[in-house]
Amino acid sequence: MNVAAILKHKGRAVTTAPPTITLIEVARRLAQRRIGAIVVMDERGGLVGIVSERDIIRALSECGPDCLERPVAEVMTRNVVTCQETDTLDELMAMMTARRFRHLPVVTEGDLVGIISIGDVVKHHVAEIEMEATAMREYIAHS
Ligand code: AMP
Repeated sequence: MNVAAILKHKGRAVTTAPPTITLIEVARRLAQRRIGAIVVMDERGGLVGIVSERDIIRALSECGPDCLERPVAEVMTRNVVTCQETDTLDELMAMMTARRFRHLPVVTEGDLVGIISIGDVVKHHVAEIEMEATAMREYIAHS
């Protein structure tokens, strides 16, 4: 199982926003779309950051509710780690575990083509394990 197969299943839509959007608007979009992170793109479509619910919690704890009117550019992570469509499920799990984040934008030839969350990774990992267990049970039953 690789990233291309996961995207085929979940689709390629990614929620993005400009760096000028306020944190309260980010919070609204995360809640409305039931997602955990938004990819920040500049006006030329370049990927310039990622903001997750954790960044909002951190900003609130450091500056209080006033920070909700600040632009996302002030709290987003700028050094975004991305993955490729050819990366495997095992590689995604290793990246997320080592770097301690739960979202990986997918980039193909410089374009943002999807996003993988830890929820997608766990879902497909469990499906793989179940398929292996079923195959093993059938093998034992017929041997
Ligand atoms: P998350 O676990 O995805 O909610 O994110 C935890 C922290 O890692 C937040 O500060 C995010 O901005 C940051 N983060 C999330 N995904 C990435 C990524 N792909 N590359 C770099 N930082 C990220």
